Amino acid sequence: MFSLNQFPLAFSAKDLEPYMSEQTINFHHGKHLATYIKNLNDLFQDTKYADLPLNEIITKSAKDESAKKIFNNAAQVFNHNFFFKCLSKEKSPIPEEIINSFGSADSFFEQFKSVATSVFGSGWAWLVRDANNELKIISTANADTPIAHDLKPIMTIDVWEHAYYLDYQNRRPDFIDAILKNLINWNFVKENLEK
Ligand code: MN
Repeated sequence: MFSLNQFPLAFSAKDLEPYMSEQTINFHHGKHLATYIKNLNDLFQDTKYADLPLNEIITKSAKDESAKKIFNNAAQVFNHNFFFKCLSKEKSPIPEEIINSFGSADSFFEQFKSVATSVFGSGWAWLVRDANNELKIISTANADTPIAHDLKPIMTIDVWEHAYYLDYQNRRPDFIDAILKNLINWNFVKENLEK
């Protein structure tokens, strides 16, 4: 069984204002993530997935057509926990490797924004490392997650409407800009690059 306490925020709900409101954090972490955790607990009881580590539930259920709901909820738990770890109001420098891979910080921001803006409907934009050790910007639809595709997640932004609607309504590009320029915890990103 999982609980919300295993996925705490590293900041208090007010800390990301004005770029992300206290209300958004309270709903997003306290309601949306909590619901995915509850659904996962309800679904995996009495299945072979019960009590496996979260990453294993995801990679195994990804290959099991009969476990689609378990995959969706487990992946959403992973994705949200990873997303919240990507956020901080404290300024940190964008890692050299990203600047070198994409030419400049601005070029990285532009490419990430373009991918994140283009997600049709609900999904996620990611910086990942592929099997050739290259950094790539990709999107995943709905609950899908890089770890189901042998890609190592480095950074993400949630572009489901619930991530931004209270603060930005339909202006997803403004939300993405605000996060990229003000709220990315580059120290966490750097740790992922070095793992
Ligand atoms: Mn979300």
